[in-house]
Amino acid sequence: MNIFSFDEQYVASTYGRQKVHFVSGKGSLLYDENGKEYIDFGTGIAVNGLGVKFQPWLDAVKVQLDLLPHASNLYYTSPCALLAEKICSRTGMKKVFFANSGAEANECAIKVARKYSFDKYGSGREKIVALKNSFHGRTITTLAATGQDAFHKYFMPFTEGFVFAEPTFESVKELADEHTAAIMLETVQGEGGVNPLGEEFLTAVDAFCKENDILLVIDEVQTGNGRTGKLYSYENYGITPDIFTTAKGLGNGLPIGAALFGEKTASVLGKGDHGSTFGGNPVACAGACAVLDAIDDDLLAGVAERSKYIIDFLSALPGVKSVTGLGLMLGIETDDAAAKVAACLEKGLVVLTAKNKIRLLPALNIPYDILKKGLEVLKEVLA
Ligand SMILES: *Cc1c(COP(=O)(O)O)cnc(C)c1O
Repeated sequence: MNIFSFDEQYVASTYGRQKVHFVSGKGSLLYDENGKEYIDFGTGIAVNGLGVKFQPWLDAVKVQLDLLPHASNLYYTSPCALLAEKICSRTGMKKVFFANSGAEANECAIKVARKYSFDKYGSGREKIVALKNSFHGRTITTLAATGQDAFHKYFMPFTEGFVFAEPTFESVKELADEHTAAIMLETVQGEGGVNPLGEEFLTAVDAFCKENDILLVIDEVQTGNGRTGKLYSYENYGITPDIFTTAKGLGNGLPIGAALFGEKTASVLGKGDHGSTFGGNPVACAGACAVLDAIDDDLLAGVAERSKYIIDFLSALPGVKSVTGLGLMLGIETDDAAAKVAACLEKGLVVLTAKNKIRLLPALNIPYDILKKGLEVLKEVLA
């Protein structure tokens, strides 16, 4: 059985895969079919945020798998309710809808933003201002919300009502008018090239939203769950979203997405307005409870410390033009990033790209000895 040829023959060709077949892993180490070890600075795109098979996560998942893997949302299950309470009490948000991915969480956020506006103002106030260079997912609507022309091909007609501002307050203000339901953004644009939008911009948008009863929707799919040194990245700026979404790291290896609703939006959805068969799955939720429990002040302090260590190390290297990002979501501006990512992999280091940068998304708890070994590989490749 040849996995490469089976995959190439039978799996839809949507991914530019690296020619590595991973079979196991633990923490920040991965192993391929030949037993070669890799240091993981990619965490499966910010999913394995506490490392592969993080022990409390694995224990919680196994217990729930053995009890009841699925029941349907027609009934109560405890992991879903416990996770909802945890995430709300940690953030001050009032309610949560559980989905299975980032795109689905964003779909839900968009529906809720539009219904909030419809319930209060009637039709004609459905515009959503998103940002150029954003990324919000791969469904027709979340592609429409994504501010990159490359994603607006082939699948017409896309969902209407999205416009794209530059990440400046002037530009946002110009587009956000009396027909606008929401402003939607990532605090650090991940897929767009690891670009932090900055405190001045974000606080201005937050205040503008509140003055005009425009909802602030923050996509925390990549930035959430400790990645930037706070549980959710908006906490870095003292701003309060009306809706935020998350996924990736909340699951630590299982699919889950969530849309969180604040005071204004908590009661927008009623019976029958939205749903998902797998949403709130007991196994994924049990694991996510263990993830949230692990993201405490100590862990977050460790994220900030590791971040500084990496930035200091990389900034001193000759091949590095700049290092952008926040916490453990970092982009390295360098020549020919894609070739360097492949060279790292060859040397046993997994890193990602974001646009023309090398992107690092290591585990929030990556041990320093492994981190240092990985950075030495980067140094060699960047030289
Ligand atoms: C990954 C990502 C998504 C899409 O998440 P999926 O789980 O792939 O649907 C949406 N928004 C942001 C910011 C992301 O990084």
